[in-house]
Amino acid sequence: MELIDRLRILTAGARYDASCVSSGSRRNKAGGSMGICHSWTEDGRCVSLLKILQTNECIYNCQYCVHRTEKDGPRTSLSSREIAEITVNFFRRNYIEGLFLSSAVRGSPDQTMENMLSCITILRNEYNFPGYIHLKGIPGADRILLKKAGLLADRMSVNIELPSSASLQRLAPQKKPGEIFGPMRFLQEHREMGGAFWEQGRVPS
Ligand code: SF4
Repeated sequence: MELIDRLRILTAGARYDASCVSSGSRRNKAGGSMGICHSWTEDGRCVSLLKILQTNECIYNCQYCVHRTEKDGPRTSLSSREIAEITVNFFRRNYIEGLFLSSAVRGSPDQTMENMLSCITILRNEYNFPGYIHLKGIPGADRILLKKAGLLADRMSVNIELPSSASLQRLAPQKKPGEIFGPMRFLQEHREMGGAFWEQGRVPS
């Protein structure tokens, strides 16, 4: 599949994550700004971000999700380097001020998190990318990977997908509550333990 087609599929797939201010807005649905969302930085600036999934090929079958294994539709991925290069190119053209990177779970949570970490490592360490990076933590991924990602990203978040263990068991039985709340607790603890570590955010791993 051509790069532009994969880009279209993976930016469209990312719009279901409601973490950005403009996610799911009319403007995005109109198509012209598809793939661009807006978010607030810690110092109150509104930044435009390329919002994209690294892959929509998911091993899980969460009943509420458009990317679940049983759902029909085109499946594709971008390599870490492809996303890094697209991000830098858009940034240099002033289309965006940063990257919002999420992903379905391809292979395993660790493999998925490693791919995302690889992407932002290329951005920060090879391209000296100065833009804003919001990275989703993958439930079930190793804490070391989350920590390394936290050293490079400006912001990390994990989705609370369902309100209770019972609903998680019914609709996403492959996921465990600890896999969702574990990373959140870990990120919170590290933020509280090392504010400077988080504020600097760009220290090479
Ligand atoms: S793990 Fe995430 S991407 Fe995969 S089906 Fe569940 S909610 Fe969707």
